Amino acid sequence: MVVRMRANRSKTGQRRSHLRAESLRVSRCECGAVRLAHRACPSCGKYNGKVIIDIVARTERGQRRDKRKEKALRESGQVTESEKANT
Ligand SMILES: [Zn+2]
Repeated sequence: MVVRMRANRSKTGQRRSHLRAESLRVSRCECGAVRLAHRACPSCGKYNGKVIIDIVARTERGQRRDKRKEKALRESGQVTESEKANT
């Protein structure tokens, strides 16, 4: 068993010197959008100059999903989101 001695102020300060909130590291993408460092750009899907995320396919998938959801709502007799917007 290790008997730990009471830490003196110097040791406590040394340990706590690493305990601080880090600011978000943001950088600007080559497309001009603000993105987080070491993360792919959310607007063009590029990381390190290469396209990592297929943004077009992703938005198309989202639109298809919305359409399917709306159809299901209509069939069940509920008011869909687009009809809500019209009224
Ligand atoms: Zn970008």
